[in-house]
Amino acid sequence: MKEKHMDNCIFCKIATGAIPSDKVFENDEILAFRDIHPAAPVHVLIIPKQHIANLSECDDSHAGLLGRMLALVPKLAVQEACDIQSDSEGNLSGGYKTLINSGPDSRQEVYHLHVHMIGGSRPWRENI
Ligand code: 5GP
Ligand code: ZN
Repeated sequence: MKEKHMDNCIFCKIATGAIPSDKVFENDEILAFRDIHPAAPVHVLIIPKQHIANLSECDDSHAGLLGRMLALVPKLAVQEACDIQSDSEGNLSGGYKTLINSGPDSRQEVYHLHVHMIGGSRPWRENI
């Protein structure tokens, strides 16, 4: 896959390794790493290696990539021990929030598409 990177984009620099990150998953098209300011015990960002600013730049041609990014979430939840558990009486525990910010009203800070996976024992930061 041809990868396009933006010179002034911090997540492009993380994708190329120019800026270090605490990686939890990597393949040819996707990287997942820990958020530098975690909002909860588990806070992972899943990014495409190619530069896409946000969901507003996506169309049907991105469906496969977006699907693979989301399909990674439950695998990372198991890896990070925040997946959903059920006890012998069927009571559920664990779980995670999955979030994609796009544009100013969402308060997107970094304009390189990313899926937040936020989980672990509460309390979490307010307003997440
Ligand atoms: P947004 O508000 O754009 O959805 O979220 C951007 C996230 O990226 C924030 O949670 C912020 O803490 C995280 N972040 C910003 N810069 C860096 C960085 O250099 N390294 C890492 N690991 N996370 C970052
Ligand atoms: Zn970028």
